[in-house]
Amino acid sequence: MSSIPRIDGLDDPVTPLDPRSRLCLRCKATFHSQWAGERICGRCKGTAAWRSGTPMQTPSVGRRR
Ligand SMILES: [Zn+2]
Repeated sequence: MSSIPRIDGLDDPVTPLDPRSRLCLRCKATFHSQWAGERICGRCKGTAAWRSGTPMQTPSVGRRR
């Protein structure tokens, strides 16, 4: 039998940094995700629809000094 050295405590099924190929939640396309929380591919992130959901710098509102 092949004995694989396992270290107790480091067997974490969910890692925050988990780069792997995932399916995009928007276009269902396989893309290379940098981490576990990245579920949207780069193409969908670049679309205006995706950007509208994220509050970025607005030219008219939120202008305080
Ligand atoms: Zn996508």
